[in-house]
Amino acid sequence: MNDKILIYEKSVPGRVGTPLPKTGRGESEILNLIPEKHRRRDDAALPEATEGEVMRHFIALSVKNHHIDKGFYPLGSCTMKYNPKLNDAAASLPGFINQHPLAPCRTASGSLQIMLELEEYLKEISGFAAVSLQPVAGAHGEFTGLLIIRAYHKDKGKLRKKVLIPDSAHGTNPASVTMVGYEAVQIKSNAMGIITPEAVAAAIDDDTAALMITNPNTLGLFESDIEKVAEVVHKAGALLYMDGANLNAQLGVVQPGKIGFDVLHFNLHKTFSTPHGGGGPGAGGVAVTDKLAPFLPVPVISRKIDENNRLFLDYDRPKTIGRMHSFYGNFANIVRAYAYIRSLGARGLKRVSENAVLNANYLRVLLHDEFEVPYDNICMHEFVLSCDRQKKSGVKGLDIAKRLLDYGFHAPTIYFPLIVHEAFMIEPTETESRETLESFASTLIAISKEAEKDPETVKHAPYNTPVRRLDEVKAARELDVCYKH
Ligand SMILES: *Cc1c(COP(=O)(O)O)cnc(C)c1O
Repeated sequence: MNDKILIYEKSVPGRVGTPLPKTGRGESEILNLIPEKHRRRDDAALPEATEGEVMRHFIALSVKNHHIDKGFYPLGSCTMKYNPKLNDAAASLPGFINQHPLAPCRTASGSLQIMLELEEYLKEISGFAAVSLQPVAGAHGEFTGLLIIRAYHKDKGKLRKKVLIPDSAHGTNPASVTMVGYEAVQIKSNAMGIITPEAVAAAIDDDTAALMITNPNTLGLFESDIEKVAEVVHKAGALLYMDGANLNAQLGVVQPGKIGFDVLHFNLHKTFSTPHGGGGPGAGGVAVTDKLAPFLPVPVISRKIDENNRLFLDYDRPKTIGRMHSFYGNFANIVRAYAYIRSLGARGLKRVSENAVLNANYLRVLLHDEFEVPYDNICMHEFVLSCDRQKKSGVKGLDIAKRLLDYGFHAPTIYFPLIVHEAFMIEPTETESRETLESFASTLIAISKEAEKDPETVKHAPYNTPVRRLDEVKAARELDVCYKH
């Protein structure tokens, strides 16, 4: 079968996929419903194919790409865990998909109830006083959280100018800081890969709005001095922001709101298993302490029941930063996260984190003889190794990552965090079996040995993928979405 042609080229006039039901009305009666000027003059240029042909076409396309339903996806920091199909079933219930976003609250009680309950679960998981589900990505949550911090300082009378960020931070952190109008100031991690209260004390002053920190950090290490760091931050009148992308390591174990953090963003699409990748869809709610709750985006779901005994959306919030997204965020993802939390329960969520940490440590130990692991301590849900040793034979981390694709594995995150040379950031997640971890580790070790004996082969990988090496800069700048060549 030629799988390189477009569905349009496979079209044969007269083929029908799914016949539409009869309307029971005459053509002219229907035409009269559409004003003359809005009527189509020509038939829409849609491909004509049978249901079977359509299925084969799209299944063939879907397997060209890597995805979590196809194979292991150890993309560090991104938490590419298996997404139970139960979540999709819940998000597709007719009551949800047929709900219009402009429906009045009195006809949307069920949806509001789901959102309110999810907020309650997230408050309990994170140890914070209030949650907004409106932001639709982690980075969007950062932006929201930082606007809240800015509004807080403004309310206190002094805006302040800068936000401190560790050198291991994700790139979205300084980007969000800049977008909010603050200056990002980098602070160095110590030899153990964590931030010390001393380093923070040396950088902080009364113009510092916040310290923004990922915990566990992007090296997969828990910030063990965080409570002392929080003291230093609060003493300077600043706030402590937690990038919660790595919350997968601490469900039911640590409540960030109880160890000194003031704001946190969730990546519901990472920690709470809603499918993501390729730019969306995401959900990046924020959690805040009591004193920051007045600044949350509107609307908030009011716990106060209205005169008809129903939940309602409250817009009457004088200190709010305003709206962050149309309607109420990415509602289908909110339902998915809700379904995930409900199906696992409190014990199940704790086991998620325990197994995520166990899997990461098992993999780290399987690999640490063959590869350098710069911070080779017990890690949380991910760890970072270095391909520096392999580089001696002229093979870069990038080449090894490409070679992995030939064996059906997605590559780990590479060259991040920036403080590790030739970094491979590996996050296996809790949903992978021991067999998968062992097979991945033995493949990676075999590639390392191949790099020594036959570096040229590794340097020109991949060989088995639909396309070979792309000019990545050109691919990003001059996107070619047409497959036909
Ligand atoms: C994924 C991630 C982000 C950004 O989240 P998005 O949902 O991709 O916008 C921020 N920080 C860290 C540490 C992350 O892993």
